[in-house]
Amino acid sequence: MYNRLKVLYQLQLVDDQLDELEELRGDLPNMVRSLESRINEIKEEIKLKETEQKESVEKRALNEEEIEKLKESQQKFKAQLYQVRNNKEYDALTKEIDHSDEQISKLEAENNALADLSKSLSYQIEEIKPQLDVLNAELKEKEADLKEIIKVNEKEEMKLLDERKKIEDQVKKPDLSVYTRIRKAKKGKAVATLKRSACSGCHNIVPAQRQLEIRKNNKLFTCEYCGRILVSQEIAEEVEGK
Ligand SMILES: [Zn+2]
Repeated sequence: MYNRLKVLYQLQLVDDQLDELEELRGDLPNMVRSLESRINEIKEEIKLKETEQKESVEKRALNEEEIEKLKESQQKFKAQLYQVRNNKEYDALTKEIDHSDEQISKLEAENNALADLSKSLSYQIEEIKPQLDVLNAELKEKEADLKEIIKVNEKEEMKLLDERKKIEDQVKKPDLSVYTRIRKAKKGKAVATLKRSACSGCHNIVPAQRQLEIRKNNKLFTCEYCGRILVSQEIAEEVEGK
């Protein structure tokens, strides 16, 4: 019986280590994924701003050309003013000149606004870029961690699984099914120890009579509060090599 209880506790310890590995691996891929998606979002944001900026530069260049053309034709109209023969012609020309003035003012105002926009976009892009550097550095770090853990885990996990197999072979079938059922219900811990008169799984005090029985190591007991298998401190210490 002593050995029956001992192997159950051994099984729990190996499973604890396997759970730890699982946890380590389980968290990092999520972190890497979320960093990657955040980086893509920021890259997309920068790209949109850069496109907007490029378009504003192009639009400004077009407006400049248009302004030049308007100024040229305006010069012609002004020259023609000296050659008018009547008021009608004079009015028509001044109307054209005024109209060009209006258009030039409008385009110049638009270009000022575009210049402001371009400046503000540059500023925004410069502000965002450092975030990208920080996130990229973090991603690189997490990826390296993950790679290392996977590498380390591979060996460690193989070793533990091998060890688990050997222990499992020594566990009695009914004990194993009880163990598996409790482990599933308690999300990992199926075997608890009697620690300072309490169950190490739920910390409830175990009745004194039951404590005595557990210390005899000759029967499989479960905690009446949490249902976990309870083994004595003696068994725990022996398995843990204390
Ligand atoms: Zn308990």
